[in-house]
Amino acid sequence: AIINFGSINIDHVYQVDHFVQPGETLASTHYQQLLGGKGANQSIALAQAGADVRHVGSIHENDATFKQTLIKKGVDCRGVKCSETPSGHAIIQVTPSGENAIVLFGGANQTITADTVNKALLDTSSSDWVLTQNETSSIADVLRLAKESQLKVAFNPAPMSESVKALPLDCIDLLIVNETEAAALTDKEELDDILTVFKEQWSHCEVIITLGKAGVMMLRGNDTIEVEAFSVDAVDTTAAGDTFIGYFLSAYSTHTDAKRALIRGCAASAIAVTREGAAQSIPTQKEVDRFLAK
Ligand code: ADP
Repeated sequence: AIINFGSINIDHVYQVDHFVQPGETLASTHYQQLLGGKGANQSIALAQAGADVRHVGSIHENDATFKQTLIKKGVDCRGVKCSETPSGHAIIQVTPSGENAIVLFGGANQTITADTVNKALLDTSSSDWVLTQNETSSIADVLRLAKESQLKVAFNPAPMSESVKALPLDCIDLLIVNETEAAALTDKEELDDILTVFKEQWSHCEVIITLGKAGVMMLRGNDTIEVEAFSVDAVDTTAAGDTFIGYFLSAYSTHTDAKRALIRGCAASAIAVTREGAAQSIPTQKEVDRFLAK
């Protein structure tokens, strides 16, 4: 199984003619509520890729329908607790040109404690993986306790923040970052310099750097594996990284060869960028198989 300690957000998406100005009351022309959060997106991608995924997180009881959405996608949500704190949510304004402005409230995502982590790790086996991002509380506990439990630890430090550098990063087996996160984590700008830092200072773990439409690189021992992105007409790259991670890890955690797992991740995320939205853009396994058979 893959145990994902991750955020569950409710995205409130408002279409507006322009971003609301100080002191202005602005009527929105269209409103939609969507399930979001990097954690939830990655759990959905894992489930759609066929993985046995357990989500550990927290949401307010009034928002149980969003937990149902995750369950319907095939995610085991027994580790998703009800919190008295409002659910994590984002207030998203979208203008006609597609620009967005976002207010994010961490809410219930910030109520995960070391106790939550301990309980979730009680019933695990040595072949299990733990996955987490940077959108929930107690990440240091997740990394440390997962390692102590001798599980494989995958970490996607997104969204990136300075606090990531103070985490017990030596507990990680697999780091997955995009170019921005890689630059912030290594204090380097050029890809070559970033790679040098990872090779010299991160040799205790495997590192995957996703490079948008340039594809992906994986540093694995002394090997560097590169996979090109598939050429598609991108319309919305939201959740590209989340889709990649779900599809890659689903394959890799069941001992698929690294290069094949990277290709599956790239194929799934290439499909996702041809579609609008986050969770709803994540393809099914059948769609990925069909795409790769072309
Ligand atoms: P993030 O969404 O976290 O910023 P990236 O932009 O690096 O991550 O995208 C993750 C993966 O999605 C890439 O490695 C690539 O395989 C795929 N991808 C992203 N953008 C495109 C694109 N325009 N065309 C094809 N594949 C893409």
